Amino acid sequence: MRANDSAAMWHERLGHVGMDKLKAMSSRSLVRGLPKLSSFGEGHVCAGCQYGKSHRLPFDKSQTRSKAPLEVIHGDLMGPTATASLGGSRYMLVLIDGYSRYTWVYFLKEKSEAFRLFVEFKELVEGRLNLKIKKLRTDNGGEFVSSEFSNFCRKHGIQRELTCAHTPQQNGVAERKIRHLTETCKCWLHAKSIPRSFWAEGMSCAAYVINRMPLSLINMKSPFEMLLKEKPSVEHLRVFGSTCFVHIPDALRTKLDAKARKLVFVGYDERKKG
Ligand SMILES: [Zn+2]
Repeated sequence: MRANDSAAMWHERLGHVGMDKLKAMSSRSLVRGLPKLSSFGEGHVCAGCQYGKSHRLPFDKSQTRSKAPLEVIHGDLMGPTATASLGGSRYMLVLIDGYSRYTWVYFLKEKSEAFRLFVEFKELVEGRLNLKIKKLRTDNGGEFVSSEFSNFCRKHGIQRELTCAHTPQQNGVAERKIRHLTETCKCWLHAKSIPRSFWAEGMSCAAYVINRMPLSLINMKSPFEMLLKEKPSVEHLRVFGSTCFVHIPDALRTKLDAKARKLVFVGYDERKKG
């Protein structure tokens, strides 16, 4: 139990969060379920951080925030990756709400799937928030400017804002988020020697955690709180790549069978807690 409450453990669970932010989260109750942490291991060298983190993320120059959820969605496509994911994906579609900075990630085998996934995303968020997407900001890469994509946006009244491809500084919000996701994923994969083919699980898990972390840009609220108007709980978070034991119910085993299976933890289910 003591080990469970250590700052080093929470640092890993929360995506190798900076110690200053962890201190603020613990002392100011910015999330639910985080215990009061006392020792912050000053001078402690974290292996994951050595493998994954650059010293500083690029400053968020695009500090402009929209005034309401779904007013602007920032989108970008990352890839192709050198290693395919377990599901065979080599691309990641990242969509960020300009108001809350809440981030959704999707994994693709082909760039052309971006359209179908955006349609899926639109239905999901508009239904959940009971609001309409007003503007989509992406670069002018082929996957975003196909005629079916353009027609769909026109039909649904979504204004397009296109930046030049390969000038990521124009698409700063998305670029910065992709860097943050990638660094977090790298810290986790390397700290636990998880194969690279688990990159999609790592990225999903990073988005899940980062959505629950306070941001100075939004007065130390989390994207989760900005969007869903309640403080997120971090009580159920575990370190990506750690060993876990899953209980096998009595009915499914005989007397001498093991009571648990040893597995490796690779992320959360968005649809249910646990
Ligand atoms: Zn670390």
